[in-house]
Amino acid sequence: MSFDIIKGMATTLKNMGRKPTTVSFPEEERQLPPRFRGRHVLHRYDNGLERCVGCYLCAGACPADAIYIEAQENTEEHRVSPGERYAQVFDVNMLRCIFCGYCQAACPTGAITLEKNYELASYYPEDLVYHKEQLLEPKGQSTIGSNEVWAEPAPSEAAQPVPQAQRLFDGSRASAAAVGLGNVTAERPVLLTNEEQDEDRRKL
Ligand code: SF4
Ligand code: SF4
Repeated sequence: MSFDIIKGMATTLKNMGRKPTTVSFPEEERQLPPRFRGRHVLHRYDNGLERCVGCYLCAGACPADAIYIEAQENTEEHRVSPGERYAQVFDVNMLRCIFCGYCQAACPTGAITLEKNYELASYYPEDLVYHKEQLLEPKGQSTIGSNEVWAEPAPSEAAQPVPQAQRLFDGSRASAAAVGLGNVTAERPVLLTNEEQDEDRRKL
């Protein structure tokens, strides 16, 4: 018996009594860290409206070009979100996604978060483009997801620019401005640092 075989057997014997580091998935599930980033979820307000206002910030922030959005105008007859627009199409390509969480960080309304769902396997690549219908919380369910872990709670005396305190869109002017209704006047003047560079900027 060569020395290499004895060495190998010794390693095997040494590890035989140790607790395994693997788990028997799916019967057993691994305890995930609190900031684990898995599959995306699109959230709603308590009143059923979708948080997403179709602003494309998440798609712009995505380093992997994994998010595809088509925004549509809300109308009084057909209001989907409290903002001017909503996402008619919202796709996330899980084959491109690197689960960096930039989309979650970029979203001004807490509409998209990465949750603890990691069961993403499929035999077909086209199944791994997740559509809005799969990502959106069902009606009657309103959560803010892992934002709870990520967001530092605001000081109690601070004015709430976004309706995070109540976890819902409360119809107030502040909430409306925060989620994209552009027809409210700013409380204080917006200072432009470079008039020439900023001349095309949308006036508040
Ligand atoms: S987690 Fe990162 S890579 Fe994935 S969709 Fe969001 S921004 Fe893009
Ligand atoms: S950043 Fe948020 S509100 Fe804007 S399109 Fe993405 S998910 Fe929707």
